[in-house]
Amino acid sequence: MRIAFIGLGTMGMPMAQCLRHAGYDVAGWDVTSAARARVDFCPDNLEEALQGADAIVTMLPAGADVEAVLTPDRLSTLPEGRLLIDCSTIDVETTRRLAELAGEHEHMILDAPVSGGAEGAGKGVLSFMVGGKADAFERARPLLEVMGSKLAHFGPSGTGQAAKACHNMICGITALGVCEAFALADGLGLDPDKFFKLCRGAAAQSWVLENRCPVPGPAADAPSSNGYAPGFAARLMAKDLGLAQEAAQACGQETPFGAQAAERFAAFAQGDDGNLDFSAIYKTILKR
Ligand code: NAD
Repeated sequence: MRIAFIGLGTMGMPMAQCLRHAGYDVAGWDVTSAARARVDFCPDNLEEALQGADAIVTMLPAGADVEAVLTPDRLSTLPEGRLLIDCSTIDVETTRRLAELAGEHEHMILDAPVSGGAEGAGKGVLSFMVGGKADAFERARPLLEVMGSKLAHFGPSGTGQAAKACHNMICGITALGVCEAFALADGLGLDPDKFFKLCRGAAAQSWVLENRCPVPGPAADAPSSNGYAPGFAARLMAKDLGLAQEAAQACGQETPFGAQAAERFAAFAQGDDGNLDFSAIYKTILKR
């Protein structure tokens, strides 16, 4: 099976590599020449990457980027019956629009955003939140099982993105809680290393705490101990929390903690800080 993998960033690169290691014929593409230069499986242009692909996987920053790749023109010229798997985190509205367009050209499409970070992508243990038709999900299952260890099919197109918006709202709110607790621990003179070790095995444990300790030092592999290199960029966290707020408004559910997290990350992500890992927001919370 030939796969076109579009978007070779923090997440896309290790995901594409997992597929290659599993024996799939992968043609990659990224708009950035630096990303393309890191591997030997990118042809000269996007059209060549798409040529002959049975499945097209997109792992891009936002809805506009996915629509720039899966254009009406391309979807109409691809042979019918392609499997399109969008793993990017984007808005439900764009997802449904793409699903309608793909359906008009007899392609199968899934929204399949992920959780697990670059760490999970490298190990092929991502969690997939999937929306789309059941037969498309079954067709995609072997590919998703290479890249992930947990698959949840929520229902029709858009439901994978809806699950992801709720999921990342938990992560954003948790991140602020973890940062505040470490800032308070600092103010009270606690050893951050001891506090981190205590929290890991206690009721305060979470993925965010385990993988994104905001204080440099206690976790050697965490972005904080490596100049806050992402990881999951703060600009992407801000985008995702904004998507959760759009979804909350659309269904009339109040999410005050989510709203505050969205505001805090949007303010932090402006400018260069947006390219740091989201745990770098700690710098704005620690007051001393
Ligand atoms: P990234 O910015 O590192 O990578 C995105 C890549 O897409 C970049 O290399 C960029 O050059 C490329 N790109 C942009 N527009 C393109 C286009 N039109 N055609 C081809 N390539 C294009 O982002 P990432 O961290 O890999 O995240 C990708 C998606 O996954 C986002 O939607 C993000 O919200 C989501 N996500 C990220 C993480 C994480 O921990 N980084 C975790 C879960 C989900």
